[in-house]
Amino acid sequence: MLKFQAEMEQEFYKSLAQQSASVPCQACKKETLVPIRLDENNTFNCEHCDVNNAVYIDITTAVTTVPLQKLETIRINESEATRTA
Ligand SMILES: [Zn+2]
Repeated sequence: MLKFQAEMEQEFYKSLAQQSASVPCQACKKETLVPIRLDENNTFNCEHCDVNNAVYIDITTAVTTVPLQKLETIRINESEATRTA
């Protein structure tokens, strides 16, 4: 029974970590961990100064890049070295 409760708590904190963010209070600038939802407006009362804050989500995108596997510049430098020699 106790083990089941511990597992439930573990699941709760795991799901909280996936849907929450540590955000600064705009009044006192201290961080508070708040649950974030995409389907409704997010607000929280600061646990340090009790001021109500709104959370605004700004989603942006970026193209991911893959690092080059071959270092072509090394080969160019080698051919230049043999030309001047
Ligand atoms: Zn605060």
